[in-house]
Formats: sequence, C-alpha cells, structure tokens
Amino acid sequence: MKIKALDTYFLSAPLPQPVRTSTSTISRVSELIVKLTTDAGLVGIGEAHGPFLSQGGPEGMRAVGQILERVTPLVVGQDPSGIERIWQDLFALTYTSVRGIPTLAHQRRQLVTAISAIDIALWDLMGKATQRPVHALLGGALRSRVPAYVTGFYYRDGERPDDLRREAAMYLEHGYRTVKVKVAGLPPEADAERVGVIRKAVGDDVAIMLDANQGWDLPSAVRAARLCEPYNIFWLEDPMPWYDERHALRRLKADVDYLIIDSTWAGGLTVWRKAAVMAELYQVPLAAHHDPQIHVHAVAASPTGFILESFADHTRDPLWFELFRERPKIVDGHMAVPDTPGLGLELRPETLEKYGVKLG
Ligand SMILES: [Mg+2]
Repeated sequence: MKIKALDTYFLSAPLPQPVRTSTSTISRVSELIVKLTTDAGLVGIGEAHGPFLSQGGPEGMRAVGQILERVTPLVVGQDPSGIERIWQDLFALTYTSVRGIPTLAHQRRQLVTAISAIDIALWDLMGKATQRPVHALLGGALRSRVPAYVTGFYYRDGERPDDLRREAAMYLEHGYRTVKVKVAGLPPEADAERVGVIRKAVGDDVAIMLDANQGWDLPSAVRAARLCEPYNIFWLEDPMPWYDERHALRRLKADVDYLIIDSTWAGGLTVWRKAAVMAELYQVPLAAHHDPQIHVHAVAASPTGFILESFADHTRDPLWFELFRERPKIVDGHMAVPDTPGLGLELRPETLEKYGVKLG
C-alpha cells in the first residue's frame, strides 16, 4: 500500500463573543486538517492545532501551504506503515535538509504543526488498514473510559458572579467532576474571589484546576497560590512564562506533578508515544491538551494516562461541535474509548465547506 495524495484544509470559525486568558484573546478557533489517500482507496484524517498557522494572516497561510508542498515528496509514494520513518524524515527538516529538500529550520513551529496533522493521519490510516482502533496500534487500551475535564471560566467582558454560577451549573449538568478556571488575568485578590464563587457553586466534590497561561511573575504566582489555597486546588497550570520554567517552579516550591501534551501541535501521536514512555519511567500522570476525540486513544493506551481536556460550551469551540458526523460523547465526566477502526472519526463535508479553505 502506498500513499497517493496529501490534501490539506485550514478551518477557522469565529466565536460569538471573544474569550480571554491572562495572555491572549481568543476570537476564533482553527484547525489544520490533513487527508491522506492510499492507492487502495483508504483515507486517513489528521488534525492539528491551527492558531500557530493563522497568526501570520494570509501571508502566514501561504507559508504553511508552501511547507506542505515541500514535505509532500517525503509522504506521497511512501508505505503508510512506516510511520516512525516518515516522522523522522519530516522532523529532520527542523534542522537539516532531507533528500534534496532544503531545511525548514526557520519555520519550525509551522513545520511541527504540519507534522502533527500528517502523523495523526498516518495512525488513522493504519487503523483503518488493519481494522483496529488507534489505541490498539499504540499497545492497547488500559482502560475502557477516560476521565475528561472541562475548560471554562474564561474572562468575558461584563462578567458578573452570576455568570460564573450559571456556567458552573451548566458543567455540573453535563456531568463533569473536574473544571478548569482561567486565572492571572486579574490581580490575585480578584482572581481568588472568582475562584471562591466557583468553588461555592460547584460544591466540595468537584476538582478545580487553575490555568494561569504563563501570566504571572514569581511574586504574583506565590501570592495567588496562597490566596487560592482555601479553595482546594487540584492543579496549577502554566504559572509563569516558559523561558525560566524549571528555576522559577523551584522557587514557587512547585513541581511537575502532571505533564500535559498536545499531540496536535507537538508532532503527532508518534511524539505522544515517546512522551508516554518517559512519563511511565518517572511516574508522572499524562494529561492531554485539546482534541479529546484524538487523545482518548493516546491516554487510554498510556500507562500513566490520566485525563482529557474538553469544552462543553458551543460558544467556546464551534468546530468541536460541528466537525464530525458523530462526536464521541462525554458522560459522567468520562469519554468511552472507541472501538471503531482508526480514530473512528468522520468529517462533515459541510463543515469543511463552511469554515475551510483548501491549502493543497
Ligand atoms: Mg493551558
């Protein structure tokens, strides 16, 4: 079996109301979709996190189109079962030229995003070719369902405490037992007050995670962590900027208790698999960022696989609600591990039409 075609689409959907984290305003969601077609007529679908691609506007999109065009010869014509070999070829372009294709060292982030979608499409393809779900190819599911938390409580213009209470009620109604709250966008005292309102609204049995999106410096992180302590915080995510993570974390007297990986921007399920081996070695629970419909396979098959991220609010991620014919459901705060071949996802062509442009 050989790969005959690589088609890519870029999807971008506006949010009805922009939402904010401490360090960014989200007014659209976007995804890169890769379709790989084989000479046997099988189609593998891969998805990658879009924002790194769309940041550059139309110029940035053109650059992504060119990257995909450049890497196509390393994918088309190949046997899709050589997933690691294809990954190694593509990744080598981050620092060197490969079989006459010039290096893409200056466009690493866009390249790794493209690799993510291609790699995920290869896993989907091999699942379909062997009639096995992707988690079976990753070593087999170690659990039949995977916990999922909901990310919400973004900052919104004109927000009142009652809005937070309403949002909390919606998540409880969906059956969630773990919620993630955005922090670091307000002074620590005001953030702690917000967290207090949410704690009261969800009760004592729901776990609360905080995500600072790298918005604090060390003194603010220390102050905020102390102020939020009475509300029993499960994890504190990305307290400070990435560039001094290890040293600053030590001074915050914090540790890496959980590792979050996003295979849709870090290089695909092949990278997840490598991270899962390290996480097992160091006994660090592995959580997924975004795209639970893909990560459910990875978390289920990882020895320290722990939890998925999800959105329950259509206004936060319209693509998640519209992209697939059948969306895996989250029931009682868990997603069932699918047993359909590949990723078990079928794109809705009308959504591709509505939000997408074809890149190549
Ligand atoms: Mg985060």
